[in-house]
This record gives sequence, C-alpha cells and structure tokens, in this order.
Amino acid sequence: MIAPVLPTYNRAPVAFDHGKGMRLYTEQGEEYLDFGAGVAVTSLGHAHPHLVEALTEQASKLWHTSNLYQIPGQEKLARRLIDNTFADTVFFTNSGAEALECSIKMARKYHAANGQPERFRLVTFEGAFHGRTLATIAAGGQAKYLEGFGPKVEGFDQVPFDDWAALEAAIGPETAGILIEPVQGEGGLRPVSPSRMRKLRETCDANGILLVLDEVQCGIGRTGKLFAHEWSGITPDIMAIAKGIGGGFPMGACLATERAAHGMTAGTHGSTFGGNPLAMAVGNAVLDVILADGFLEHVRKAGLVLKQRLAQLRDEHPAIIAEVRGEGLMMGLKCKVPNTEFAAAAFAEKLLVIGAGDNVVRLLPPLIVSDEDISLAAERLDKACRALEAKAS
Ligand SMILES: *Cc1c(COP(=O)(O)O)cnc(C)c1O
Repeated sequence: MIAPVLPTYNRAPVAFDHGKGMRLYTEQGEEYLDFGAGVAVTSLGHAHPHLVEALTEQASKLWHTSNLYQIPGQEKLARRLIDNTFADTVFFTNSGAEALECSIKMARKYHAANGQPERFRLVTFEGAFHGRTLATIAAGGQAKYLEGFGPKVEGFDQVPFDDWAALEAAIGPETAGILIEPVQGEGGLRPVSPSRMRKLRETCDANGILLVLDEVQCGIGRTGKLFAHEWSGITPDIMAIAKGIGGGFPMGACLATERAAHGMTAGTHGSTFGGNPLAMAVGNAVLDVILADGFLEHVRKAGLVLKQRLAQLRDEHPAIIAEVRGEGLMMGLKCKVPNTEFAAAAFAEKLLVIGAGDNVVRLLPPLIVSDEDISLAAERLDKACRALEAKAS
C-alpha cells in the first residue's frame, strides 16, 4: 500500500519537534546539532527571535492579498536586494525552481523582445542542479531526474564542468545565455574559480548573451559574501535565489538588470503566492540580520575555522575522507566510503549533515554557527570517522 505521503524521499528515521539556534530536538528530547540547515535554508538557525517576531506580527495583520494589489513588503525587500546587488528589479517566487523558471523565461524573452526569438537556448553544466520542474530538470540534465517524465524540455545544452572548449563550441546562433551555479551544491560542492567566472562574463558579453546565475544554495551569505559571485568581482544579468532568503519560510526571487528584464512586461509572468506579505516579512527580517554590521565577517571567520577543522579531520582519517572542498559555510567532504554511510555515522553521533553528488557529504550549518559549535561538530565527525574505520577493519 502506498504511503499517505507520496514516497519520493528516503527519509531518516527521525522527526523533529522543535528547534533552537543550531539545535533540533525530537519529541523525546534528543538533541541534534544541525549542520544541514534543512539544505541551506534555515540560514539563521531555528526559532530566531527576530524572525519569529516578524512572522507573528505579520500573521496577526495580513497573510495574503495577491499580486493584484500593492504589497509594501515586496517593495521594501526588492529595494534592499537592489541596493545590495547588481540588480534593478526583482520578481518574488515561492521556491528555487520557480526562481529559475522566471530566470529562464526572462533570458528567452530578452532576446525575443530584441527581435531574436531564435535565441532561446541556455548552456548548462554537468553536475548542475536547478530544481524539479520540467524545465529545471532539463536544465540540470541529470538522467535520474529526467527519466520517465516524457520529452525533455528543449533548449538546454549541457557541457562538462571544466571544459572550456566544449563551452565555446556549445555557444551558437540560438544561444540565449549561460546558466551556472557559482558553487555547485547538489553536484558536490564544486566552486567555479573567480578567474573562470570572469571568463564566463567576458564570453557572454562577446557573444551578446546573458549570464544567468543560480545562487539558490550559495547565495544569502553562505560563502561569506552576500552572493557568491561577488568573490569574482563580476555581476550577472539575471540571478535566481531562494533557500536562505526565507530562513525556513518558502520563498525565492529572480533578480535582474533593467536591460535583461526589458521583455517582462505586465501579463508576461505571474505567481499567486509569490511575494505574499508573510514571506516578505520574513525575508526582510532575514536581511536585517545578514546585512547587519559584522555578520558576513562572522560567516567568513567561521568558514575558515570550519575549513581548518575539516582539513585536520581529513589528515587524521585518510581512509575515510579524500578531500575537503567548498567555500565559507558551504563545505563538502569527498568520502572514500559511501557518503550515505558517512552521513549515517554522523547521524548516529547526533550531527546532521547532507549528502551530495560525487560522493560528497555537505556541511551547511546555519550562518550563526559559533566556534564552539564547529568544535563540537568536529568531535562528532571524528567519532563518526572512527566508527567507520572500526567497521572497515
Ligand atoms: C535547491 C536548489 C534549487 C531548487 O530549489 P527548490 O526550492 O527546491 O525548488 C535550485 N537550484 C539550486 C542550486 C538549489 O540548491
């Protein structure tokens, strides 16, 4: 008999009842240290007082009116995102995939509105993950997500992650742009180097095509800058964000320059729920904290501490950990044992981590993580490695 909840996930045998900061608790009161943050979502940890206050205050005033009316929270959040990024305009969504859908449609529309409707294709990269809608599984190009769901949506040309010749060869008269994650998340924590990011920008400019970034996972402070592309000094034309901006409330956004967005006139795109007052209250509250003086500095420092502790673990457990990779508080351990076994061993030590492609385990702690939390996580990872070593011998 099929489960009442469609069984598309292999869930860990635990349910959490409440959370506080870096910690999650079961109904029985067992405490877990959260280094997964619900896949980079609970950027400020659990039950952050400022977020709880913003949400509950809005909840007693107004939940939803639709985008048929002005929504002051949207104006405010859009203005703050614009003031802190390359963007001139923002469309709000409920998820990352929808932010990507808007980005993909916008890139196509840009060229159509310029009289080049034949330019609708996007170049994408192996190992990419852009969501689970029909267009975003086509963009991600992973066979396991495409299989059985009918013809793949047209218009995505995938090239190997590190093959510049293949990238250049893929750009043709039908190309609308390049779509890339500055740090691959699901694909296994692979950062695009700053020099490569600059080269991508130059290539887009030289070919009259758009650079579309997917910062759904690596954005909102995760790498120690508000957005990961800032490390390279370049700016995109269009950028999808989600995950961390809601701190756990479902929301996303598509940010764009005025030039890239020029085809998106009234009636060309929409969302019933996107940008509703509850989401906007939380999004603004998240930015209050992340944009506060010193917060991103804290993330950068914590990221360095984490990286050092992980490098130490790799040196001490060479049979378990092959490599440490990632940026800031978006770190990965490439494992020599199956990453599912590694994650299970960490879980047994009451540490939550998350698997990724390329046999990597991700560490994505809430950005509020302290040095003490990192030490505790490192101790638990050490115990997990010892348990795995004992099992192997
Ligand atoms: C999670 C993720 C998405 C999809 O976001 P959803 O909210 O699950 O639709 C897209 N791109 C990247 C890089 C992501 O990590």
